[in-house]
Amino acid sequence: MMKRAEIDITGIVQGVGFRPFIYNLAKTHSIRGWVLNNEKGVLIDAESEDGNLGCFIQDIPILAPALARIESLQVVPLEPIGHTSFEIRKSEEASDKFVLISPDAATCDQCLSELFSPENFRYHYPFINCTLCGPRFTIIKDIPYDRYKTTMAPFAMCQICQREYEDPANRRFHAQPNACPSCGPSLQLKDREGKEIQGDPIEKTLYLLKKGFIVAIKGLGGFHLACDAENNEAVSSLRSRKFREDKPFAVMCRDIVEVEQHCEVSDEEKKLLLGVERPIVILKRRKVSTIAHAIAPYQDTLGVMLPYSPLHHLLLKGPLKTLVMTSGNISDEPIAYKNEEALKRLSNIADYFLFHNREIHMRGDDSVTRIFEAKPYILRRSRGYIPFPIKLSFPLEMILACGGELKNTFCLTRGQYAFLSHHIGDLENLETVASFEKGIEHFKRLFYIEPKAVAYDLHPDYLSTKYALSIQHIPKIGVQHHHAHIVSAMVENGIGGNVIGVALDGTGFGLDGTIWGGEFIKADLRDFDRLAHLKKIPLPGGSMAIKEPWRMAMVYLSDAFGNKANRLRIDLTRRIDFEKWGILRKAIEKKINTPWTSSMGRLFDAISSLLSIRDEVHYEGQAAIELEMIANHEVKENYPFHIQKDERPMVIHLTEMIRGIVHDLMEGMSSSIISGKFHRTIACLIIETCETIRSNERLNRVVLSGGVFQNIFLLSLVTEGLRRSGFEVYTHHLVPPNDGGISLGQAVIGHTRLMQCA
Ligand code: ZN
Ligand code: ZN
Ligand code: FE
Repeated sequence: MMKRAEIDITGIVQGVGFRPFIYNLAKTHSIRGWVLNNEKGVLIDAESEDGNLGCFIQDIPILAPALARIESLQVVPLEPIGHTSFEIRKSEEASDKFVLISPDAATCDQCLSELFSPENFRYHYPFINCTLCGPRFTIIKDIPYDRYKTTMAPFAMCQICQREYEDPANRRFHAQPNACPSCGPSLQLKDREGKEIQGDPIEKTLYLLKKGFIVAIKGLGGFHLACDAENNEAVSSLRSRKFREDKPFAVMCRDIVEVEQHCEVSDEEKKLLLGVERPIVILKRRKVSTIAHAIAPYQDTLGVMLPYSPLHHLLLKGPLKTLVMTSGNISDEPIAYKNEEALKRLSNIADYFLFHNREIHMRGDDSVTRIFEAKPYILRRSRGYIPFPIKLSFPLEMILACGGELKNTFCLTRGQYAFLSHHIGDLENLETVASFEKGIEHFKRLFYIEPKAVAYDLHPDYLSTKYALSIQHIPKIGVQHHHAHIVSAMVENGIGGNVIGVALDGTGFGLDGTIWGGEFIKADLRDFDRLAHLKKIPLPGGSMAIKEPWRMAMVYLSDAFGNKANRLRIDLTRRIDFEKWGILRKAIEKKINTPWTSSMGRLFDAISSLLSIRDEVHYEGQAAIELEMIANHEVKENYPFHIQKDERPMVIHLTEMIRGIVHDLMEGMSSSIISGKFHRTIACLIIETCETIRSNERLNRVVLSGGVFQNIFLLSLVTEGLRRSGFEVYTHHLVPPNDGGISLGQAVIGHTRLMQCA
């Protein structure tokens, strides 16, 4: 008996080899009919003898191409009409062609084997790709996703490429970036004066890298600064030229075997390293390894990634097994992504430039991840993940959320999708702001989004806030920083209603005008109530206090010991410039340039300095990271603390803990043990505060967010402790716990507030 059905598929099903896949699958199952792309995704009319049709439909989600993401598959039975063949039909044109766009994807196995087959005409061609892999988001200028609207437009396909492109059965059917050595992009090696170096660009680059030179290499989403990762001298000179004292560099290793030479790698970490997203994965570094020490000084971890473009594979097949691959920028500016721009901006850092002539339209920094509880934990969500949306459990109005200041991302919503942007960077200079504005316009165009409201952080000085407030004619909705953190974690976990939110970070503007950061809130998707926080302390010198943790150590010591603080017999007081501290004390008394804060980040800074680990930081979070690194995990004790429960909000006092730490220091206890005890203390106070809130508010779900939860030791202690106490615990896995995730929370809160007004 004949059967026929219409099959409607939505998700990322365009530009990922879906139609050739359906075409070939139809052949296998003797299906007749057609397939086409429409405004929603892919539409199939399939007809066959009984049995075959069912198998065909079953196989679609199981065998779909690696880059496809099927969101829904609907089958409607139809009357058989006697199709005689299976064909790929021309796409339906529509006015509102909203489709999802695939992220850039790592070179697939089939392309890799062609890349290294001498008989293949794309042998050693650094731009080989197909519908299963290659550049996407970074080359798309406009929609629909078609070659003439990408940066591949200037390259006319040769006959062979064109034939592949038009052949429904071919892996390169409608592969927009399809190219070969005779028709596609090519490499060019230049010196810092812009003079071309003759010879094979890859061979020459390898020779230069091996000699210890620094080469700026144009990649998928921007330039990397590369050097031999086993050459300490090269790495150190990259550091000094980049003005980057000790923030770790990422390393690219030839393959998993090489990664295992330098790091311990679990199965989950392996899977993450090898995924099509190819993020940087933070791994535990082996004690003995040939990787240069200067790559990650004062760290016991290493940020590692595997090659994700054909060019990377070619560079790492030679004599070098590992390369430093750090973003091509000077300190805090956005990563360079245009040839002339790179030559201008990076010529004081790089000795040579490996260019290519395929333009990058949108920047895409490498993503940074680690594994927590056997699942990815994303610290920077960018290349490989963008622009794949976060799917929400309910539809939203179109909202623009502008994010925070550091690690900025923005977010635009449409229906059940929240399009979180790529990593924009710290919005502290004009270049980054320009990149932020360009990004917003690009996303609005790609996904047909015209925001009905704009959500922003309450901090009046953030450039993202100023941008939001400059938008005319739509409602502007201010969202408290820590509320946004908690809601971002709630929505990625698909939960609503009231929860206990524990938001711990460095800085977030509070409703009372002070700086918050050690916050326990009762939150839902619209409102929140501050239920507890760390006791407020002064922040002498404002932002200087963030750069100089010793100031926070002295503030906490003075708080615990009063005038006796200066005379304590500990290393810190031997190092302090008391003249400077005297001036700061006066500033505190006179309330000059001294905001108040309940920040957990600053507490970690204080303890780091108190334990003589770090008095001044060179990058955000450094003091806390190094404090986590030395912590002894076996310690079972913790310091006393006090929660003042008769106040609303409750206040957490740490005087006894500070006294305990000083006592241990004077007894000569190791900083490793003290750091372990400190971490336990923070975990205990979080758990006890949550228990108190549970008995007052009858809430049993705890949501953890904020940059402090990048500390995996603390995060594990807290989640384990909370679960032992019977709580349901929710953490991040899709968006960063740091400020890179808050735009998602802002967007959702913006929507619920807008609905309330309507
Ligand atoms: Zn491929
Ligand atoms: Zn060609
Ligand atoms: Fe934050």
